[in-house]
Amino acid sequence: MSAAGSAAPRLVLATHNKGKLRELRELLRGQVPGLDVDTQVVDAAAAGAPDVVETGVTFAENSLLKARAVAEATGLVAIADDSGLAVDVMGGAPGIFSARWSGSHGDDAANLRLLLSQLSDVPDIHRGAAFVCAAALAVPALDGLSGREVVEYGQLEGVLLREPRGDGGFGYDPVLQPMGEDRSCAELSAEEKNAISHRGKAFRALLPAIIDALEEAALSPNAGGHQDS
Ligand code: IMP
Repeated sequence: MSAAGSAAPRLVLATHNKGKLRELRELLRGQVPGLDVDTQVVDAAAAGAPDVVETGVTFAENSLLKARAVAEATGLVAIADDSGLAVDVMGGAPGIFSARWSGSHGDDAANLRLLLSQLSDVPDIHRGAAFVCAAALAVPALDGLSGREVVEYGQLEGVLLREPRGDGGFGYDPVLQPMGEDRSCAELSAEEKNAISHRGKAFRALLPAIIDALEEAALSPNAGGHQDS
């Protein structure tokens, strides 16, 4: 393989979140012979992929929508995730609405305040909740590739605290205390959180399918994306 060929992107993560890209690269490092994770595993912007509107009603549907759209647009193997908080007594809400529970998208502090006030009368034994993640893989149906789709899941179970604790993490991290822990997710180091996180579990479960898909693309003489350069 030429030097230029070895640097061409082979896997796109449908996200603009640099933290997720970093996590995925670490997960894949050394797992696929010949894959340079730092140059060949890229995010949506680097692959020139469009933003995808999340019109699905489940984490799996939304992750698949994103992975499929990015695979079709780029001609590359694509993966995507969708995640949120599922509270037992709320029947799994906020769920897919986690990022906009208080009305405005991505206002973590307002989302968390609203959730805590909704649960203020719920006793400790009924405060179970989990972060949930669906991770999807899409192999484009072109250039001799199989057009396969795979979804895997991961969960981080715990209980909801009554007050936010800790400065780390994002979103609902300050109010979820993982099972068996006496700290909130926002009090864990990034490494501790990644080791037990819903996203880490979902991506690790998807790893065999990712490796298969990259090997399939490497064996397909015409595969390699719609790159202009
Ligand atoms: P996304 O899947 O990255 O778009 O996450 C959707 C929303 O779910 C975020 O905006 C957070 O509110 C919540 N969420 C997902 N994962 C986590 C996590 O690991 N910690 C805290 N909140 C999370």
